[in-house]
Amino acid sequence: MSICKICGAENHKGILNCLECGWDLNKYILSPYGLAQERKSKLKWAKDLWTKNDKNEYEIKILQQEIEALKSKFKTLRQEKREIESTLKQEIKDLNSKIETLTQEKQKIESNRYQKVDLYNERKNIDFPQLEEFLKKKKWEEADKETHYLILEIYNTHKIGYIRKKDFLDRFAPLPYLKKIDELWFEYSEEMFGFKIQWSIYKDKLSQHRFSYLNNEPEAHSFNEFEQQVGWRCKRDYPISYKEIIEQILNGKGKRGQLPILRVGEGDTHERIRIHNFLKIFGSSAYYNCQIAE
Ligand SMILES: [Zn+2]
Repeated sequence: MSICKICGAENHKGILNCLECGWDLNKYILSPYGLAQERKSKLKWAKDLWTKNDKNEYEIKILQQEIEALKSKFKTLRQEKREIESTLKQEIKDLNSKIETLTQEKQKIESNRYQKVDLYNERKNIDFPQLEEFLKKKKWEEADKETHYLILEIYNTHKIGYIRKKDFLDRFAPLPYLKKIDELWFEYSEEMFGFKIQWSIYKDKLSQHRFSYLNNEPEAHSFNEFEQQVGWRCKRDYPISYKEIIEQILNGKGKRGQLPILRVGEGDTHERIRIHNFLKIFGSSAYYNCQIAE
């Protein structure tokens, strides 16, 4: 057993170089040759150690560089992750806000629809007593103004003062009212007045003009002829005033389909254009496409 002078490891007898550090354990003969041998061996040991150390240092340096590169890569990845997270968070936030807006809009639409349906349900059993009374007494002007008032109420457009095209889109809620109003007019005027009569006159005009090659505005043309026939206009460009219309009727010179006009005050063609739209949609939805009426 011999103990290494360099690293202190215990080596078995007969081992020439320390198994731990490689130190030369030989006992050299005290002679010039022996000393030279020993010196040579120790130099080699030192040289090997140096080379090994140098190599280790180089490897450590390479490893350190690799670690640095990995660290930097990790940092970049972490930054990217943060950015993606932040983008995703913003997108989620935007989507949530959109969902909220859409939900609110949906609720609004639903509540509006609910209100319209409710309006109908609430007044379902009312027979429009005021209108009926005017019509019964043949107070045509009052009945006409009451009709205008009721229509505005049904469509909830009092503030605007007339019915908009988009109000017609929900055709199911007000149709029973319109039909009821129409029936009252039809009954008490002895089948002279009402929307249904107006629509049938207008429809006839439309079918006459719809396929005419000479006429590129069949609707306007048809409506103009309709106005002349029901006594709203005496010639193409001469509208008759509301007062005159009422006087004609009261004097027994009224025309079929002349009422209701759905307007109040003195004549104004713009008002009638609105009736034009009303008739078109009333006619086409209530008496044309739907199976509500006969
Ligand atoms: Zn040793």
